[in-house]
Amino acid sequence: MPIINSVKTDPNKILPIRYPWAREHYKAGVANNWVPEEVSMQRDVEQWKSTSVLSATERRLILWNLGFFSTAESLTANNIVLAVYNHLTAPEARQYLLRQAFEEAIHTDTFIYCCDTLGLDPDEIYNMYQTIPSIRDKDDFVVEITRSVFDPGFSTEGMENTRLFLRDLVGFYVIMEGIFFYAGFAMILALKRQNKMVGIGEQFEFIMRDESLHLAFGCDVINTIRAENPDVWSREFQEELVTLIRRAVELEKRYAYDACPQGLLGINPEQFCEYVEYITERRLDRIGLTKQYGTANPFPWMSQSTDLSKEKNFFETRVTEYQTGAALEWD
Ligand code: FE
Ligand code: MN
Repeated sequence: MPIINSVKTDPNKILPIRYPWAREHYKAGVANNWVPEEVSMQRDVEQWKSTSVLSATERRLILWNLGFFSTAESLTANNIVLAVYNHLTAPEARQYLLRQAFEEAIHTDTFIYCCDTLGLDPDEIYNMYQTIPSIRDKDDFVVEITRSVFDPGFSTEGMENTRLFLRDLVGFYVIMEGIFFYAGFAMILALKRQNKMVGIGEQFEFIMRDESLHLAFGCDVINTIRAENPDVWSREFQEELVTLIRRAVELEKRYAYDACPQGLLGINPEQFCEYVEYITERRLDRIGLTKQYGTANPFPWMSQSTDLSKEKNFFETRVTEYQTGAALEWD
């Protein structure tokens, strides 16, 4: 029974499992359970209130990233619940989507927690997706690619509709969660490496760990649809997707320059752009599209040092130990 376009799928009959990867991602998600209140914001609040710790550049970068993520998380949640869940009928895929939806609620909650503890103006933060062009353009871009799937009359039947659905999956899993989140991840974690706003930094580490699972699930869904509908993946369609992804990369670079025009201690804005190209290369490869950039990773610490410090954080700062497996995977 295929993962889409199957009227015979009974969404209530999860056993026997047909797509074991969906179940594995579900288990990995559960093993990574966390809530934002486990991370202390004490030092962040002190640093935010102090006039001598953070530079104007650093404050701007923090505000831009809170502004982008605070609304991007609910855009993503809406896409899963209102569009993807409808059309992905395999029960084990739906079980994963329910888990992902919960994680998006945790992420939304993280930004409420950050705004509350730092005393930020919610009207400012939650309107940045309309008032800051480099943020608005990213959101508009994914909304535009995915509009047709939200149509109540939409079905995945037929080649063109299958492509529309794939475009939605590429728009949210590959572009939104896989590219548009990553300049922000790198900026906040670079700040954390300088011992600045480490509470937000740790929350971003937890979010990034969740997002790499979302991305892995999304790529597995895309690759399954490709395998089950080989005609859909024509050269023209691949080129169209590559063009979309390249445009997304340009938007993400513009965002990186806008959020952090002067760069950070030891990091110039070009390096954030290189990082965006580097991670995009991996996304392209993962869904069988031609690599475009050949850029090396300017921040090897993004995948290495973070998971070591995470183990430490778990033992030092967590009140409750939810971690049940060694699912510390980073992308
Ligand atoms: Fe999220
Ligand atoms: Mn996500």
